[in-house]
Amino acid sequence: MRPTGKLHLGHLVGALENWVALQHDFHNYHLIADYHALTTNLDSSGILQNSLDMVIDWLAAGIDPKESPIFRQSQIKEHTELHLIFSMLITAARLERNPAVKDQVRELHIENVSYGHLGYPVLQAADILLYKGDLVPVGEDQVPHVEISREIARRFNAQYGVVFPEPEPKLTRFARLPGLDGMDKKMSKSARNTILLSDSPDSIRSKVRTAVTDPLKVRKNDPGRPDICLIHTYHQKFNPGGVADVRAGCMSGALGCVECKLRIADAIARHLEPFREKRAHFEAHPEEVRQILEDGEGRARSRAQATMTEVRKVMNLG
Ligand code: ADP
Repeated sequence: MRPTGKLHLGHLVGALENWVALQHDFHNYHLIADYHALTTNLDSSGILQNSLDMVIDWLAAGIDPKESPIFRQSQIKEHTELHLIFSMLITAARLERNPAVKDQVRELHIENVSYGHLGYPVLQAADILLYKGDLVPVGEDQVPHVEISREIARRFNAQYGVVFPEPEPKLTRFARLPGLDGMDKKMSKSARNTILLSDSPDSIRSKVRTAVTDPLKVRKNDPGRPDICLIHTYHQKFNPGGVADVRAGCMSGALGCVECKLRIADAIARHLEPFREKRAHFEAHPEEVRQILEDGEGRARSRAQATMTEVRKVMNLG
């Protein structure tokens, strides 16, 4: 994940929940993609604080740093080295076709894409393959990037000898959580349509109140269409026990949007309560967070160095 600020529900349900679920059965590597943050914002003054804030969110969500390392990309030099080698194994035309970069350029109104931005899936391939990642737990928007990593791994193995696995994406049931501004919009920081994991119950309530719902359900008792309503998606995720009731009430017209929104805001606030408590602990103990990073960076570095030794050997470098 890129350290671009505090995390939102999309990060939680699209990726982070999977990381927590997988950490006991797999060797997870939790990467703070701080170089990647520069692709859309050259101002690096907030990068350290944003990284620490993000780690606090991860820890609060249940990532156990003893199970698996948490580390900054910029602290492991092997990422840039493997990125350079990988950049020879893919064409510029292939990167220009990447739909994820195209979407980002459109959303952020970027006029001229930098060389680094265009190539960020190549750096991402290095991020994954340096740890021989075979399973990449990401949201749906990242699937094209994992495909590029597969292509690069295949190309490297065919050219120099088998070193890398071909990674597969691992999606959750909610691999594309909509934002508060409509079913067709992904919840995303740049779209300002988010509920943050650190939002207070009051803030969650006031944000949910502004959410777009079925435009044909104008009056309270008009029948609604839950399948096109983002609040219904949120009920499926955060209020699974109440979803049948909400659905029937919406379709018959017995349940109005105001009440439906109140119910989901309360369910989300309840879901995030233990998270807020844990977050408060780490906010009060920044030295613990720094220690976790130092430890994680040491562990990740050893793994990355071992892979680079293999890479140099098969390539006859050094
Ligand atoms: P952002 O879009 O807010 O800049 P990132 O691109 O850093 O977030 O995404 C970090 C991870 O969270 C990726 O695996 C991404 O697919 C996932 N993710 C982000 N937003 C969502 C969402 N709305 N629904 C599902 N997964 C998401």
